[in-house]
Amino acid sequence: MERIYIGMGSNLAAPDQQLRRAITALAQLPGTTLAGVSAFYQSDSLLPGQPRFTNAVAALDSNMAPLDLLDALQTIEKDQGRERHERWGPRTLDLDILLFGDQLIDEPRLKVPHYQMHVRAFVLYPLAELAPTTLQLPDGHRLSDLLTTCPFVGLERLPQE
Ligand code: AMP
Repeated sequence: MERIYIGMGSNLAAPDQQLRRAITALAQLPGTTLAGVSAFYQSDSLLPGQPRFTNAVAALDSNMAPLDLLDALQTIEKDQGRERHERWGPRTLDLDILLFGDQLIDEPRLKVPHYQMHVRAFVLYPLAELAPTTLQLPDGHRLSDLLTTCPFVGLERLPQE
């Protein structure tokens, strides 16, 4: 069993519902338990002119292999209408493997820790709701240090229902 953190984002087609549906799908993955979900956050799109994103992080305990999990996440994205034309276009659902236990993964299809998680407030702040800030990433970064250097800007934590 590994503790895995998944970053989720959507800025199309009722983003909050997309995230809720994705959470249900994550909880149903084989050999997997949903261990927690952060609050939902709204963040400005990294590209001007795009709708704001809803983001959250989910914690899983799973015995799936990393590439099998990536395949499963891409199936969930596809089931929820994501078309992979534009790299940076609006998306109904984006699922990223942020951390996979303490594994460093450097495969052509999968880099873990996720290559941009260190500088993304919409990843780090929801992650800090689920993981201890003393958490040390397998690349040596400490979550508390990343939070210090990544300001809470362009981000809004939504009230929980
Ligand atoms: P994106 O446009 O952010 O959804 O990027 C998707 C691509 O990133 C996919 O083709 C994956 O193979 C690749 N990828 C590399 N590392 C990761 C990761 N940690 N989580 C999800 N996708 C990843």
